[in-house]
Amino acid sequence: MPTYSHSQLSTYETCPYQYKLAYIQKIKIDIEGIEAFMGSRVHDALEKLYRDLKLIKLNTLEELLAFYHQSWEKHWNGTIQIVRKEYSPEDYRRLGEKCITDYYNRYSPFDQGRTLGLEETIYFPLEEEKGYWIRGVIDRLALLNHSILEIHDYKTSSRLPTQRDVQSDRQLAFYQMGVEGKWKDIQEIKLVWHYLVFDAEIQSLRTPDELRQLRQETMDLIRKIESDRDFTPRESPLCDWCDYQSLCPKRRHRIVAESLPPNEYLQEEGVTLINRYVELKEKKGILIGEMDAEIARVEEALFAYAQREELEAIYGSGHVAKIKVEVKEKYPLKGDPQRRALDEFIKNAGKWMEVSDLNPWMLARILERGGWPPSLAQKVREFSTVEKNRTITLSKLKERD
Ligand code: SF4
Repeated sequence: MPTYSHSQLSTYETCPYQYKLAYIQKIKIDIEGIEAFMGSRVHDALEKLYRDLKLIKLNTLEELLAFYHQSWEKHWNGTIQIVRKEYSPEDYRRLGEKCITDYYNRYSPFDQGRTLGLEETIYFPLEEEKGYWIRGVIDRLALLNHSILEIHDYKTSSRLPTQRDVQSDRQLAFYQMGVEGKWKDIQEIKLVWHYLVFDAEIQSLRTPDELRQLRQETMDLIRKIESDRDFTPRESPLCDWCDYQSLCPKRRHRIVAESLPPNEYLQEEGVTLINRYVELKEKKGILIGEMDAEIARVEEALFAYAQREELEAIYGSGHVAKIKVEVKEKYPLKGDPQRRALDEFIKNAGKWMEVSDLNPWMLARILERGGWPPSLAQKVREFSTVEKNRTITLSKLKERD
C-alpha cells in the first residue's frame, strides 16, 4: 500500500533529487545535523516529563535537565555535523536546555489537560478508495474538559512561523485526520505548536472544508511525485543541511574538492579547469572593456566627422559605414512606475491584444514549477519542442566559515 508522510512530501517539495535518493533508492546516510540531534534530545526530555506524569510522578526541572544532559552524552557521536561553524556543540546544548527550562516554567505543574498519548503513531487512508495512506507520529495528544482533543508538536527550529504559516501547515492537519473519530464526545480538535526556542505557543483549528482541500492537494502532489521521471536537484540554502550532498550532482564536486589536502586540491582536474576558465573569462572581460571603450571613442569621432562634413556614408579601404541619426520614441520598460499606467491605458482603450505577447520563457517557468493544473499543463506542453542547451554559468563562491 503506497504510504507517505509529511516529511516525505516535504522532502520532494524541497528537492526532488533528495527525495529520489532517500525514498526511492532508500540510501541511508549515517550523519545527523546538530539541530536535529538537539531537537531529538529535547523531545526525549519532554516525552519523559509527560510519561512520568502519567504515573503521577512530577519531575523537578533539575531532574529533567539532568535527564537531558545524560541523553545528550549517551547519544553524542562523531558523525553529528555542525553547519554553522560559528557555533559549538555546547551552544546547541545550552539552547536545548533553555527550551526545556522555558517550557517547564511556562506549563508547570502541567495540569492543562490529560495526556492520552505520547509519540502516538497515526496511519490513515488519504482517499475513500484507500489507495494511499498517510503515516505520522504525534508528539503528544491531550484531552481537555473531556471534549477537546489537542495535538501538540514540539519544534526547536530557529524560525518562528506566522499564524498564517501554521494555518496552512500540513503536518498537524494530517494528524487531525489521523485521530478524527477515534474517541467519542470530541467536539473540537486543536492543533498546538510549541516553538520552544521562542517560548511561543501557536494554535490553529481546521474546518472540514480545509481538510478536504488538503486531501485533494496532497493527492495532486502524490500524482506529481509518481509521474516524475527526472527528480531534478533543486538547490537552495537548505542544501548545506542536506545529508546527500556527497551524492548530488550539484554538490558532489564541492564535497570531494574540499576533502582534499591543499596540495592536492589545486591539482584536482575540476578545480584546475574552473580556475583556468575564470582566469580566461576575466581576461576576456578586461579586453572586451578596453575594446568597447576604444570602439565608443571611434564611433564618437565618426559621428563628429559625418556631422562636420555633412556625410551619411564614410568609406574605408574595405568597408563603408552608413551613419544614421534618428530620434525614436521610447516607452517605459517593465519595472518603470509609468509602465503600469501605460498598460492600463492601452487595456482601457481596447487595444491590449494588439500589443501583448506570450512570453515563452515565463510560460516554461510556470509549467516547470507546477503552477498550472496538470491537465492544462499537459495540453500546453503539446505545443512545445525539446531542445538541448549546453551552458556553463559561473558564479563566485560565498565565503564559508
Ligand atoms: S544538496 Fe541540494 S540539490 Fe543536492 S540533493 Fe541535497 S537538497 Fe537537493
